[in-house]
Amino acid sequence: MNSAFRSPFILCLAAVLLGGCFLSPAQAAPGWETVRHNGQEYVTARSIKEFYGFQSLTVKGSFLELENKAVKIRFTIGGQEVFMNNVKFVFSFKVVPLKGRYLISRIDLGKLVDPVLRPSYIKTATPFDTVIIDPGHGGSDPGAVNRLGVEAKYNLAVSRILKQQLEARRFKVVMTRNSDRFLSLKERVDLANRFQNAIFVSVHFNSGGRGRAEGIETFTLSPAGVAHYGRGLRQDDFQLRNGNTQDSANIALATAIHSTCLIKTGRPDRGIRRARFSVLTGVKHPAILLEGGFMSHSYEARLIANPTYQQTLAGAIADAIMKYRIATMRRSQR
Ligand SMILES: [Zn+2]
Repeated sequence: MNSAFRSPFILCLAAVLLGGCFLSPAQAAPGWETVRHNGQEYVTARSIKEFYGFQSLTVKGSFLELENKAVKIRFTIGGQEVFMNNVKFVFSFKVVPLKGRYLISRIDLGKLVDPVLRPSYIKTATPFDTVIIDPGHGGSDPGAVNRLGVEAKYNLAVSRILKQQLEARRFKVVMTRNSDRFLSLKERVDLANRFQNAIFVSVHFNSGGRGRAEGIETFTLSPAGVAHYGRGLRQDDFQLRNGNTQDSANIALATAIHSTCLIKTGRPDRGIRRARFSVLTGVKHPAILLEGGFMSHSYEARLIANPTYQQTLAGAIADAIMKYRIATMRRSQR
Protein backbone atom coordinates (compact mmCIF):
# COMPACT_ATOMS: atom_id res chain seq x y z
CA MET A 1 0.00 0.00 0.00
CA ASN A 2 1.13 3.49 -0.81
CA SER A 3 2.49 5.00 2.39
CA ALA A 4 1.74 8.55 1.31
CA PHE A 5 -1.93 7.61 1.27
CA ARG A 6 -1.81 5.92 4.63
CA SER A 7 0.42 8.29 6.56
CA PRO A 8 -2.10 10.93 7.66
CA PHE A 9 -4.26 8.21 9.21
CA ILE A 10 -1.35 6.65 11.06
CA LEU A 11 -0.12 10.03 12.20
CA CYS A 12 -3.56 10.64 13.58
CA LEU A 13 -3.34 7.41 15.57
CA ALA A 14 0.11 8.37 16.76
CA ALA A 15 -1.34 11.65 17.95
CA VAL A 16 -3.95 9.75 19.87
CA LEU A 17 -1.28 7.56 21.34
CA LEU A 18 0.73 10.59 22.35
CA GLY A 19 -2.09 12.61 23.77
CA GLY A 20 -4.37 10.00 25.20
CA CYS A 21 -6.67 12.85 25.94
CA PHE A 22 -9.63 12.85 23.62
CA LEU A 23 -11.19 9.63 24.78
CA SER A 24 -11.66 9.85 28.46
CA PRO A 25 -14.46 7.59 29.60
CA ALA A 26 -17.69 9.51 29.71
CA GLN A 27 -18.58 10.57 33.23
CA ALA A 28 -21.77 8.58 33.31
CA ALA A 29 -20.51 5.82 31.05
CA PRO A 30 -22.42 2.59 31.34
CA GLY A 31 -20.19 -0.44 31.77
CA TRP A 32 -19.48 -2.69 28.87
CA GLU A 33 -22.47 -4.87 27.98
CA THR A 34 -21.07 -8.38 28.07
CA VAL A 35 -22.36 -11.54 26.40
CA ARG A 36 -21.11 -15.12 26.80
CA HIS A 37 -20.76 -16.97 23.52
CA ASN A 38 -19.06 -20.32 22.93
CA GLY A 39 -17.36 -20.13 26.32
CA GLN A 40 -15.84 -16.69 25.68
CA GLU A 41 -16.84 -13.33 27.09
CA TYR A 42 -17.71 -10.66 24.53
CA VAL A 43 -18.70 -6.99 24.61
CA THR A 44 -21.32 -5.62 22.24
CA ALA A 45 -20.16 -3.08 19.67
CA ARG A 46 -23.02 -0.83 20.68
CA SER A 47 -21.77 -0.56 24.26
CA ILE A 48 -18.21 0.08 23.03
CA LYS A 49 -19.60 2.99 21.01
CA GLU A 50 -21.29 4.41 24.11
CA PHE A 51 -18.38 3.84 26.45
CA TYR A 52 -15.74 5.54 24.30
CA GLY A 53 -18.02 8.20 22.88
CA PHE A 54 -17.84 7.19 19.22
CA GLN A 55 -20.25 9.11 17.00
CA SER A 56 -21.18 6.34 14.60
CA LEU A 57 -21.42 2.57 14.36
CA THR A 58 -22.09 1.37 10.83
CA VAL A 59 -21.86 -1.80 8.76
CA LYS A 60 -20.12 -1.34 5.42
CA GLY A 61 -19.93 -4.57 3.43
CA SER A 62 -17.96 -7.04 5.51
CA PHE A 63 -16.73 -4.36 7.94
CA LEU A 64 -18.15 -2.88 11.10
CA GLU A 65 -16.96 0.70 11.60
CA LEU A 66 -16.78 2.82 14.72
CA GLU A 67 -15.86 6.40 14.07
CA ASN A 68 -15.43 9.81 15.59
CA LYS A 69 -13.35 12.84 14.64
CA ALA A 70 -10.01 11.34 15.69
CA VAL A 71 -10.32 7.60 15.28
CA LYS A 72 -11.84 5.12 12.88
CA ILE A 73 -11.89 1.45 13.80
CA ARG A 74 -12.81 -1.10 11.14
CA PHE A 75 -13.58 -4.59 12.44
CA THR A 76 -13.74 -7.46 9.96
CA ILE A 77 -17.09 -9.13 10.66
CA GLY A 78 -16.41 -12.82 11.27
CA GLY A 79 -12.65 -12.19 11.09
CA GLN A 80 -9.69 -11.18 13.25
CA GLU A 81 -8.20 -8.28 11.28
CA VAL A 82 -8.94 -4.88 12.75
CA PHE A 83 -7.76 -1.53 11.46
CA MET A 84 -7.40 1.41 13.82
CA ASN A 85 -6.80 4.50 11.66
CA ASN A 86 -5.61 2.07 8.99
CA VAL A 87 -2.97 0.38 11.15
CA LYS A 88 -3.61 -3.33 11.19
CA PHE A 89 -4.02 -5.31 14.41
CA VAL A 90 -4.70 -9.02 14.47
CA PHE A 91 -7.30 -9.83 17.12
CA SER A 92 -7.05 -13.03 19.13
CA PHE A 93 -10.74 -13.83 18.58
CA LYS A 94 -13.09 -13.31 15.66
CA VAL A 95 -15.68 -10.53 15.69
CA VAL A 96 -19.02 -12.37 15.96
CA PRO A 97 -22.28 -11.25 14.34
CA LEU A 98 -25.13 -12.58 16.50
CA LYS A 99 -28.83 -11.79 16.17
CA GLY A 100 -28.35 -8.24 14.95
CA ARG A 101 -25.55 -7.51 17.41
CA TYR A 102 -21.80 -7.53 16.91
CA LEU A 103 -19.61 -9.04 19.60
CA ILE A 104 -15.97 -8.10 20.29
CA SER A 105 -14.02 -10.38 22.62
CA ARG A 106 -13.46 -8.87 26.02
CA ILE A 107 -9.78 -9.84 25.95
CA ASP A 108 -9.18 -8.03 22.65
CA LEU A 109 -11.10 -4.99 23.84
CA GLY A 110 -9.41 -4.79 27.22
CA LYS A 111 -5.91 -5.86 26.19
CA LEU A 112 -5.63 -4.30 22.75
CA VAL A 113 -8.21 -1.65 21.86
CA ASP A 114 -8.39 0.08 25.22
CA PRO A 115 -4.62 0.59 25.80
CA VAL A 116 -4.31 1.99 22.27
CA LEU A 117 -7.22 4.39 22.66
CA ARG A 118 -6.41 5.38 26.23
CA PRO A 119 -2.65 5.09 26.76
CA SER A 120 -2.79 7.51 29.67
CA TYR A 121 -4.78 4.85 31.52
CA ILE A 122 -1.97 2.32 31.25
CA LYS A 123 -1.35 1.49 34.87
CA THR A 124 2.00 -0.15 34.39
CA ALA A 125 3.63 2.31 31.98
CA THR A 126 6.16 4.03 34.19
CA PRO A 127 8.80 6.51 33.04
CA PHE A 128 11.94 4.77 31.83
CA ASP A 129 15.46 5.86 30.99
CA THR A 130 16.93 2.60 29.69
CA VAL A 131 16.34 0.82 26.40
CA ILE A 132 17.46 -2.78 26.11
CA ILE A 133 18.09 -3.63 22.47
CA ASP A 134 18.12 -7.31 21.59
CA PRO A 135 19.60 -8.10 18.16
CA GLY A 136 18.05 -11.52 17.40
CA HIS A 137 20.15 -14.64 16.78
CA GLY A 138 23.98 -14.49 16.44
CA GLY A 139 27.02 -16.76 16.29
CA SER A 140 26.05 -20.35 15.59
CA ASP A 141 22.42 -19.24 15.09
CA PRO A 142 22.32 -17.08 11.94
CA GLY A 143 18.50 -16.79 11.80
CA ALA A 144 17.14 -16.34 8.28
CA VAL A 145 19.68 -16.58 5.46
CA ASN A 146 19.46 -15.38 1.85
CA ARG A 147 22.02 -14.96 -0.91
CA LEU A 148 22.90 -11.43 0.26
CA GLY A 149 23.51 -12.14 3.94
CA VAL A 150 22.36 -13.49 7.28
CA GLU A 151 19.68 -12.12 9.56
CA ALA A 152 21.88 -12.10 12.70
CA LYS A 153 24.21 -9.55 11.07
CA TYR A 154 21.40 -7.33 9.83
CA ASN A 155 19.78 -7.41 13.26
CA LEU A 156 23.06 -6.27 14.79
CA ALA A 157 23.60 -3.56 12.16
CA VAL A 158 20.16 -2.01 12.80
CA SER A 159 20.59 -2.38 16.57
CA ARG A 160 23.92 -0.55 16.52
CA ILE A 161 22.43 2.39 14.61
CA LEU A 162 19.49 2.40 17.01
CA LYS A 163 21.89 2.45 19.97
CA GLN A 164 23.63 5.55 18.59
CA GLN A 165 20.33 7.30 17.93
CA LEU A 166 18.98 6.59 21.39
CA GLU A 167 22.20 7.64 23.10
CA ALA A 168 22.03 10.90 21.17
CA ARG A 169 18.60 11.33 22.82
CA ARG A 170 20.17 10.64 26.23
CA PHE A 171 18.76 7.18 26.81
CA LYS A 172 20.88 4.57 28.54
CA VAL A 173 21.23 1.68 26.12
CA VAL A 174 21.98 -1.95 26.89
CA MET A 175 22.69 -4.39 24.06
CA THR A 176 22.06 -8.08 24.76
CA ARG A 177 24.89 -8.72 22.28
CA ASN A 178 27.19 -6.34 20.44
CA SER A 179 29.13 -8.88 18.38
CA ASP A 180 28.33 -11.90 16.25
CA ARG A 181 28.04 -14.35 19.14
CA PHE A 182 25.50 -16.89 20.28
CA LEU A 183 23.32 -15.96 23.22
CA SER A 184 20.51 -18.21 24.47
CA LEU A 185 17.03 -16.80 24.88
CA LYS A 186 17.29 -17.33 28.64
CA GLU A 187 20.55 -15.37 28.76
CA ARG A 188 18.85 -12.48 26.95
CA VAL A 189 15.94 -12.51 29.41
CA ASP A 190 18.19 -12.80 32.48
CA LEU A 191 20.33 -9.90 31.31
CA ALA A 192 17.31 -7.70 30.55
CA ASN A 193 15.74 -8.40 33.94
CA ARG A 194 18.81 -7.14 35.81
CA PHE A 195 17.85 -3.58 34.84
CA GLN A 196 15.09 -1.32 36.15
CA ASN A 197 13.03 1.41 34.45
CA ALA A 198 13.60 -0.08 31.02
CA ILE A 199 11.86 -1.17 27.86
CA PHE A 200 12.94 -4.08 25.66
CA VAL A 201 13.07 -4.12 21.85
CA SER A 202 14.05 -7.28 19.97
CA VAL A 203 15.14 -6.67 16.36
CA HIS A 204 14.57 -9.34 13.70
CA PHE A 205 13.96 -9.86 10.00
CA ASN A 206 11.47 -12.35 8.65
CA SER A 207 11.38 -15.14 6.12
CA GLY A 208 8.76 -17.44 4.64
CA GLY A 209 5.64 -17.17 2.53
CA ARG A 210 7.36 -18.73 -0.52
CA GLY A 211 8.96 -15.46 -1.50
CA ARG A 212 5.68 -13.60 -1.69
CA ALA A 213 5.29 -12.39 1.92
CA GLU A 214 6.50 -8.84 2.53
CA GLY A 215 6.13 -6.07 5.06
CA ILE A 216 6.58 -5.28 8.71
CA GLU A 217 5.03 -7.06 11.65
CA THR A 218 5.33 -6.43 15.37
CA PHE A 219 4.76 -9.02 18.07
CA THR A 220 3.73 -8.50 21.66
CA LEU A 221 3.13 -11.13 24.32
CA SER A 222 -0.26 -12.87 24.23
CA PRO A 223 -2.34 -12.03 27.31
CA ALA A 224 -3.44 -14.98 29.46
CA GLY A 225 -6.10 -16.95 27.59
CA VAL A 226 -4.74 -15.98 24.15
CA ALA A 227 -2.73 -18.38 21.97
CA HIS A 228 0.55 -17.86 20.14
CA TYR A 229 -0.17 -16.47 16.68
CA GLY A 230 -1.26 -19.14 14.21
CA ARG A 231 -1.95 -22.00 16.60
CA GLY A 232 -4.87 -23.03 18.82
CA LEU A 233 -5.19 -22.45 22.56
CA ARG A 234 -3.23 -24.73 24.89
CA GLN A 235 -3.66 -25.30 28.60
CA ASP A 236 -0.48 -23.38 29.47
CA ASP A 237 -1.72 -20.32 27.54
CA PHE A 238 -3.79 -19.51 30.60
CA GLN A 239 -0.75 -19.12 32.88
CA LEU A 240 0.37 -15.57 33.59
CA ARG A 241 3.95 -14.94 32.45
CA ASN A 242 6.45 -12.33 33.59
CA GLY A 243 5.68 -10.19 30.55
CA ASN A 244 1.94 -10.19 31.27
CA THR A 245 2.52 -7.65 34.04
CA GLN A 246 3.02 -5.22 31.15
CA ASP A 247 0.07 -6.23 28.93
CA SER A 248 -1.22 -2.68 28.37
CA ALA A 249 2.20 -1.09 28.04
CA ASN A 250 3.25 -3.81 25.58
CA ILE A 251 0.48 -3.00 23.13
CA ALA A 252 0.98 0.76 23.44
CA LEU A 253 4.72 0.39 22.80
CA ALA A 254 4.01 -1.95 19.88
CA THR A 255 1.56 0.54 18.37
CA ALA A 256 4.08 3.38 18.60
CA ILE A 257 6.91 1.37 17.03
CA HIS A 258 4.83 -0.43 14.42
CA SER A 259 3.01 2.66 13.13
CA THR A 260 6.19 4.76 13.00
CA CYS A 261 8.09 2.03 11.11
CA LEU A 262 5.26 1.85 8.53
CA ILE A 263 5.28 5.62 8.03
CA LYS A 264 9.06 5.92 7.68
CA THR A 265 9.69 2.85 5.51
CA GLY A 266 6.49 2.71 3.45
CA ARG A 267 6.54 -1.10 3.65
CA PRO A 268 3.28 -3.12 3.77
CA ASP A 269 1.52 -3.50 7.11
CA ARG A 270 1.35 -7.12 8.31
CA GLY A 271 -0.13 -6.11 11.63
CA ILE A 272 0.51 -6.15 15.33
CA ARG A 273 0.26 -9.76 16.47
CA ARG A 274 0.24 -11.82 19.64
CA ALA A 275 2.99 -14.33 20.32
CA ARG A 276 4.58 -16.38 23.08
CA PHE A 277 8.21 -16.00 22.06
CA SER A 278 10.56 -16.74 24.99
CA VAL A 279 11.95 -13.22 25.21
CA LEU A 280 8.45 -11.74 25.37
CA THR A 281 7.22 -14.18 28.04
CA GLY A 282 10.32 -13.76 30.22
CA VAL A 283 11.17 -10.06 30.17
CA LYS A 284 9.54 -8.02 32.95
CA HIS A 285 9.70 -4.71 31.04
CA PRO A 286 7.36 -3.46 28.30
CA ALA A 287 8.61 -5.51 25.35
CA ILE A 288 8.11 -5.99 21.64
CA LEU A 289 9.69 -8.04 18.86
CA LEU A 290 9.93 -6.29 15.50
CA GLU A 291 10.21 -8.11 12.17
CA GLY A 292 11.51 -5.35 9.91
CA GLY A 293 10.91 -7.00 6.52
CA PHE A 294 11.26 -10.32 4.69
CA MET A 295 14.68 -11.64 3.72
CA SER A 296 12.88 -14.18 1.53
CA HIS A 297 11.24 -11.44 -0.58
CA SER A 298 13.45 -10.35 -3.48
CA TYR A 299 12.83 -6.59 -3.12
CA GLU A 300 12.90 -6.51 0.67
CA ALA A 301 16.05 -8.68 0.69
CA ARG A 302 17.85 -5.85 -1.12
CA LEU A 303 16.34 -3.20 1.14
CA ILE A 304 17.42 -5.05 4.29
CA ALA A 305 20.98 -5.29 2.98
CA ASN A 306 21.00 -1.55 2.23
CA PRO A 307 22.46 0.70 4.96
CA THR A 308 19.96 3.44 4.06
CA TYR A 309 17.02 1.17 4.87
CA GLN A 310 18.74 0.03 8.07
CA GLN A 311 19.16 3.67 9.05
CA THR A 312 15.52 4.46 8.25
CA LEU A 313 14.26 1.55 10.29
CA ALA A 314 16.48 2.35 13.28
CA GLY A 315 15.47 6.03 13.10
CA ALA A 316 11.78 5.04 13.09
CA ILE A 317 12.21 2.87 16.18
CA ALA A 318 14.08 5.66 17.98
CA ASP A 319 11.39 8.23 17.10
CA ALA A 320 8.69 5.85 18.33
CA ILE A 321 10.49 5.27 21.62
CA MET A 322 10.60 9.04 22.14
CA LYS A 323 6.83 9.27 21.52
CA TYR A 324 6.18 6.43 23.90
CA ARG A 325 8.38 8.05 26.55
CA ILE A 326 6.50 11.33 26.26
CA ALA A 327 3.20 9.41 26.69
CA THR A 328 4.46 7.69 29.85
CA MET A 329 5.81 10.97 31.25
CA ARG A 330 2.43 12.61 30.74
CA ARG A 331 0.85 9.79 32.65
CA SER A 332 3.28 10.16 35.55
CA GLN A 333 2.32 13.83 35.83
CA ARG A 334 -1.38 13.06 36.22
ZN1 LIG B 1 14.73 -13.79 13.71
